[in-house]
Amino acid sequence: MTVLLEVRGLRVVFDGFAAVDGLDLTVEEGELRFLIGPNGAGKTTLVDVVTGLTRPVAGSVRFAGRELVGKREHEVVRLGVGRTFQTATVFEELTVVENLDLAACFRMPLRSLLRRRRGVSDEVAAALAETGLTALADRPAGVLPHGQRRWLEIGMLLVQRPRLLLLDEPVAGMSRAERERTGELLHRVAAARTVVVVEHDMEFLRRYARKVTVLHQGRVLREGSVAEVQADPEVREVYLGR
Ligand code: ADP
Repeated sequence: MTVLLEVRGLRVVFDGFAAVDGLDLTVEEGELRFLIGPNGAGKTTLVDVVTGLTRPVAGSVRFAGRELVGKREHEVVRLGVGRTFQTATVFEELTVVENLDLAACFRMPLRSLLRRRRGVSDEVAAALAETGLTALADRPAGVLPHGQRRWLEIGMLLVQRPRLLLLDEPVAGMSRAERERTGELLHRVAAARTVVVVEHDMEFLRRYARKVTVLHQGRVLREGSVAEVQADPEVREVYLGR
């Protein structure tokens, strides 16, 4: 297997407090990896570093053999890393298909944008199908229920053709049915790409996660299947036993 993301000795300090403290993590190409851990474990900070939002004081983040530390957010996106945030960010006044079209523009050179003909491109149609939003293509994003907004957001990443998607709590606030569709969507997305998901919902993890990394106090505490990490006494103490 090819290593796609390799984090070594990562350290992030906020006002003298080490939010990430000597973190090592390896993700192979094609994995669907879940990151869990108690509040404040450093999960979002890790994602922020990978995406160029936060600078570490030490360590490296290699993506497809290139160093990401020191790169700006748009450079990281261009190299093939896409991310969603804890709250959905879609353009409410635009329709579903317009949101996807706009997101597809983000990665295009300006000249090819000028030459673009109107109509739904193949990749936008594919993203609509992959996220299950084809029938809602012309609906304004602002009227979509929470779950569909989050799927649209994932679609907006897909049209930018990332090799790695980082999703921060994608099923938070979703109904049971929406969580199930999201689990299936994540597996579909990961069939052709690499996906790292920050997620708390244990029932969801038991159902959809194969490999889980447990973070605690800014570093990796355990890694393994959901059953393995759940059976670990240290993990139970810091996280699952709450
Ligand atoms: P998690 O996502 O696992 O809940 P975070 O990465 O959000 O954890 O936070 C890790 C620690 O770093 C927490 O103690 C949090 O309060 C702190 N932290 C995160 N971002 C900042 C910031 N911008 N300024 C100061 N402290 C921060």
